[in-house]
Amino acid sequence: MANTRTRFAPSPTGFMHVGGVRTALFAWLIAKHSNGQFILRIEDTDKVREVEGSEDHIMKSLEFLNLKWDEGPDIGGPCMLYRQSERLDLYKEWAEKLVQSGRAYTDPYKKEELEELRELAKKNKKPFLFRDHRPEAMPMWDGKKTLRFKSNPKSYTWKDEVLGKLSTGPEVIDDFIIMKSDGYPTYNFAHIVDDYLMKITHIVRSQEFISSTPKFLNLYEALEIEHPLFVTLPPVMGPDGKKKLSKRDGAKGILDYGREGYMPEALINFLATLGWNDGSTKEIFNINELIASFDIQRINRAGAKFDEQRLMWLNGHYIRELSLDDLFEKVQDYWPQSATSFENDYKKKVLGLVQERLKYFTELPQLTNFFFEELPTDKTLIENNKFLKDYQKDELINLLGQVKLSLESSDFSVEDLTTRLNQLLETTNKKPGELFSLIRIVTTWAPASPALADSLAVFGKDKTLHKLSKAITDL
Ligand code: GLU
Repeated sequence: MANTRTRFAPSPTGFMHVGGVRTALFAWLIAKHSNGQFILRIEDTDKVREVEGSEDHIMKSLEFLNLKWDEGPDIGGPCMLYRQSERLDLYKEWAEKLVQSGRAYTDPYKKEELEELRELAKKNKKPFLFRDHRPEAMPMWDGKKTLRFKSNPKSYTWKDEVLGKLSTGPEVIDDFIIMKSDGYPTYNFAHIVDDYLMKITHIVRSQEFISSTPKFLNLYEALEIEHPLFVTLPPVMGPDGKKKLSKRDGAKGILDYGREGYMPEALINFLATLGWNDGSTKEIFNINELIASFDIQRINRAGAKFDEQRLMWLNGHYIRELSLDDLFEKVQDYWPQSATSFENDYKKKVLGLVQERLKYFTELPQLTNFFFEELPTDKTLIENNKFLKDYQKDELINLLGQVKLSLESSDFSVEDLTTRLNQLLETTNKKPGELFSLIRIVTTWAPASPALADSLAVFGKDKTLHKLSKAITDL
């Protein structure tokens, strides 16, 4: 078996969402699994649809996930040029070969005439197939006119590494355009030439190219070259599992996830298991485990549901795996505004309390703001609390008074606070759900907070007593 070479070949026509990155990751993993190369090739042949900045966005997305390419437009490689717009001479050479062998011809129609033919086909409810090779009427190809492939329509049966055996009849093949009048090749032609010249062994791409594959097979034959293996990935489905993931489902770019505080490790783990598993129930894979176990045979055929909850869960897992110092490094830019004036030691303590629950970094302000600022008194938190909603104001004030009295003589170590809080359960004859909820609410005025004794210890004595007094007044 030849040295494995895969490529990711995006068109710089806009922002690349997670589905595109999943394709890149699978191609990368297939290459790395066999100690092969992963190539980045920019398919910039559609100048009309090109969007400024997308090449940069593609590269930054891959870099963020640490998916390094072995050859590419920025670092070069044995194939020299990895941007299709820089390879125009090559396509022209190959196109001329086809002209010479009678397998390509200048399109005899004007744009408007073609439009009419297309309309006609539509009216007759027939697919538009162009098969109009009339050698007597053909102008010479001068490189400035549209060049069409002279097809040889026939049935095909081919093997897809994921989908298995696929078959089509001759009706899907027509004389498609290979070179445009602007001197650029079409995708249909350029990728075939490039995959061949770049010695690609596996084409890893999405299902949208299946319907064109018979045309490609026809072209491979005319060029007398072997085609790489086809590895067609299952579609990424939206959260309902029925429709393809779209921007409407909130499909974002990988860099957006990065900004929200998703870690590359979690994203890789998540994307790798979008349509692949190792045959067991294992869900957590680090990158080396993925490289070792990524087997094409285990790529699913069925669509993979994009479940953001699962991504959050995975990210939470990777956050919990970090040492507190490492996590502290990573969340530097995510603290609430009010934390600015606080010492690192204090912030680290706070972080330690929420590490268990943090799912992504932009959640940090919401989970910690009350450690840095006094949130406004919000009595609805008590009124809506299932344990406290039937309490009278006086009772609450009385309870808080007892709490304050007991905590006044605490050294505010977690141990001492825990002992005192438990004693208070006995002396007040309340359940933890009642007493602890009350203390938790009035010392934070936040919907949720970490374990009570831990939180109070971080607040310290002065702040806690002040919060209790204030609550007594406000209630
Ligand atoms: N340039 C194509 C795209 O971005 C790539 C398809 C392929 O991988 O062959 O959709």
